Order: sequence, then C-alpha cells, then structure tokens
Amino acid sequence: MERDDFAGGTSSRSSRLIHGGVRYLEHGYFRLVSEASRERQTLLRTAPHLVRPLQFTWPVYRGARIGRWELRAGLALYDVLARFGNVGRHHGLSAAAVLAAEPALARDGLTGGASYWDAATDDAAITLANVLDARAAGAVVLNHATLQSVMTDGDRITGAVVRDELAGDTIRIAARVVVNATGPWTDTMRRMEDPSAGPAVLGTKGVHIAVPADRIGNRAAVTMLSPVDGRVMFCLPGHAQTIIGTTDTTTTALPDRVRANRDDVRYLLESANRFFPAARLGPRDVIAAWAGIRPLVSGGHTGDPASASREHSITLGPRGVIAISGGKLTTYRKIAEQAVDLAVRQLKRSVSPCVTATTTLRGAERTPVFGQLFEPIVEGQQWTLSDATRAVEHELACTLTDILVRRTKVAFSSRDHGIPAAPRVAAVVAHHMGWDARECARQVEAYRAEVARLFTVDD
Ligand SMILES: Cc1cc2nc3c(=O)[nH]c(=O)nc-3n(C[C@H](O)[C@H](O)[C@H](O)COP(=O)(O)OP(=O)(O)OC[C@H]3O[C@@H](n4cnc5c(N)ncnc54)[C@H](O)[C@@H]3O)c2cc1C
Repeated sequence: MERDDFAGGTSSRSSRLIHGGVRYLEHGYFRLVSEASRERQTLLRTAPHLVRPLQFTWPVYRGARIGRWELRAGLALYDVLARFGNVGRHHGLSAAAVLAAEPALARDGLTGGASYWDAATDDAAITLANVLDARAAGAVVLNHATLQSVMTDGDRITGAVVRDELAGDTIRIAARVVVNATGPWTDTMRRMEDPSAGPAVLGTKGVHIAVPADRIGNRAAVTMLSPVDGRVMFCLPGHAQTIIGTTDTTTTALPDRVRANRDDVRYLLESANRFFPAARLGPRDVIAAWAGIRPLVSGGHTGDPASASREHSITLGPRGVIAISGGKLTTYRKIAEQAVDLAVRQLKRSVSPCVTATTTLRGAERTPVFGQLFEPIVEGQQWTLSDATRAVEHELACTLTDILVRRTKVAFSSRDHGIPAAPRVAAVVAHHMGWDARECARQVEAYRAEVARLFTVDD
C-alpha cells in the first residue's frame, strides 16, 4: 500500500544507478559494495529491459584528492568485490585516452584517469515493474492509499486503518504481519507502533539538476571529484539531457517538502563547469532541479553525511511490525528477500527458498498499445500519448501526475515540465478514467501544483 503513487517518494528521485557504489570504498563499506555488486549482476540478468550497463570515465587532475594510482587500486578492489563478475573490468587511461573518450573535459592539469562499469535504470519504472510483478503473483497492491493508524489487539498490531485518497473512504485492513517500508517516513510509522521509538533513520538531502546534453558535451557517464568539497559526483547521460548530481547534506526538511535550493544548484553547476569549462553553465541552463531524502540507518552517525552507511537494517518492533530502514535502490531485491523471510517466520510457516534472483522481472515487459497515438506528448521527447494510455490501462496510473512524473519522465525533461501538454494528455485518458471536463481541469491543476512542489528552487 502506497500513500502517493508507486515510487512517489525517494524512489523517483535517485541517480538512477544500479551500482556497487564506488564511492563507498573509501569509507570502508566493503560488505555493502560486494552485496550491491551482486545485486547489480542479478538485475542485469532478471530485468534487462530496465537495467543496462553504463560505462564511466573518471578523469584525474593534478592535486586531486584521489590520485591516479589510488584510483586504479580502488577500481581493482571494485572488480574484486564484484568477483570479476562486472560487465567489464576497469582500465587505466592516459590523459589522451580520457580526452578521446570525453573530449569536452578540461585539459589543464589532466594526468589520466580510468574507465569502469556500473549500470543505469529508470527508478520509477523498476519500482512499478516490481509492483506489477507482485500483482501478477497474487498480491493486492494499492496506490493513493495512506496508512493513517494501526489496529491493535492487546500488545499486537492486527492491521491498518487506511484512507483511500482518491475516493476519500476509510478502510480497515486486517493483517497478521505488517511491514513498514516507508523510506524516509519510517520513523513516523514506527511511532504509530511505539510512540517512544527513537530515530532509526537519518535523512540526507540529495539534489540533481538536468541541463541540455549538448551544452555540457559529455558522451557517457563521467565521475567527478567536486572541486568545491572533494565529494564524488556524476554527470549522467539521459537522452537529450545530462543529469548532474548529487549533493549530500544533512536535513531536517520533511520528506514531503524537500526541494532543491539555490546553493544546491550553484554547487552542482560550479562543480560541472570546472570539469567541462566550455559549458559555462548558469542557472538559466537548468531544465529541472529536484531533491530526495536518503533514508539512511542513523545508528548514532554524527559525521559527514557522505560517510554514513548505506547498508540496511530490518528490525522487529515491540508489537510485531517489521521495519526496514536504510538500503539502496540497488539492493532492494535482497532487502525484500530478507523482509519476506522474516514475515513468513512470523506467520510460523517454513521459509521456502527465494526465487527472485533467478526469475525474470515480468513487470519489466511493457504491454504493447495499439492505435494511432504515437504522437509525442512533448515535441522532441520520446514519450507518446500511447505511453499515457498504457499507463492508465496497464500500469496502475490513477492521476495525470502519475502519468507525467512516473510512468513517463515528461515532468523532468523540459523547462515547462510539460504543463502545456497536460490538458491534451488528460483528454486522451479521460474516457478510460471516467473524467469529465471538470475533472480533467482539476487533474491539470493538481499536476501544476505537484510540479511546483517538486521543482521549485528555494532561495
Ligand atoms: C539523491 C539520491 C540519489 C540516490 N541515488 C541512488 C542510486 O543511484 N542508486 C541506488 O541504488 N540508490 C540511490 N539512492 C537511494 C535510493 O533512492 C533509496 O534508498 C530508495 O529509493 C529508498 O526506497 P524506499 O522504498 O525505502 O523509500 P521511498 O521510495 O521513499 O518509499 C517510501 C514510500 O512510503 C510511502 N509512505 C510514507 N508514509 C506512508 C503512509 N503513512 N502510508 C502509505 N505509504 C506511505 C511514501 O509515499 C513513499 O513512496 C539515492 C537516493 C537519493 C536521495
């Protein structure tokens, strides 16, 4: 059950990487890197429609915090932790080879670098694929359904009181086991079980910006050490855009209200401009800026957010709720395996071996839609009106926002976030959704408000 839309929280604001996590090596999180590398291999095999290999170039400049030989040693360890099962092994590069791969990079002080492999995905799409697969396997899945409170019998939680956000009804759902998988909202729900529960999740804010790919000129993915503070960050290819990210700052912002601010955008632009000097990017080049909150296991961590663990923890609360905290998109399958095994043990049944590591993620296969709707939603972008139709007919989209923010990425891909196209999309799906003209207008207004919530850059 999901309060907003599937992937409405952090899972549509990630860097969209399925990766071992090269930057965790310097903080010594070898177990996490090894587990994430294994999961990367698994997902490349089980969801090839959604997870594709991505080659990174890491240029090294004179005086960099991580020099050429340290980088080579780190990437050799990366290959070892992946048990040499990565798509390809890393290679050291001379300065000339770095420039051959990425000619727009700064030349001054370039001493060489390396290339290595990870994988990329569409975060909202892979989340949805899992939802669709669960449904095909017999699960009942609900979006736009908020858990409001829990039902209890003595000291046990016996179910949930849930509000249907679209119909406005309240429903009561009995449950023998409850799993709290609410990411940065984990503590709010833990306190429904135990009002005295201390914090289990530390939120750090991560911001991305999208800029026109032809302005920055990267050819593939580039790993950079920010000249501002030495953090690892990326320029990632995304069709006609380059996505630059991310920041990593401790925040007390509520997960529902988190947004980029001008300092975040300035930091990302300044870092990218130093690596790609001809780009001379300014705030006006930013197509979209968005933020998410990393739900990290707090564990009393007080130092630099970038060094906080990305490992996950699964705990059993005092009234029987299984709570997941931390973790990464990359390791979601492993986390789910462990949580489901614990749930089965709570039901006092025997745990059968998990099959998700060897079964194709069926939800990753898109249902073809027939008709004359191959007109793009926004001229020059890859999403068509038939994607909107598929979203409502086969992909559980309930609102115009679901279609434009998560079933497609129209909202992220143009400066106007596709608002001018929104009425047309609403009209195309209106018949299937039972929307009259008034409801279509309300959907467009709701989309406009959501765009402001997600993409406004604060002072
Ligand atoms: C900037 C950034 C970049 C990242 N990049 C990567 C990356 O490249 N690769 C990677 O592997 N990981 C990455 N991560 C981490 C990854 O995105 C997260 O670990 C993952 O998405 C968390 O998923 P989740 O399901 O725990 O949380 P969420 O996706 O936030 O899901 C929790 C859901 O719970 C719902 N919810 C809350 N309260 C209620 C309620 N009362 N009733 C019903 N539902 C409720 C919310 O609406 C939300 O959708 C990144 C994170 C950030 C912030």
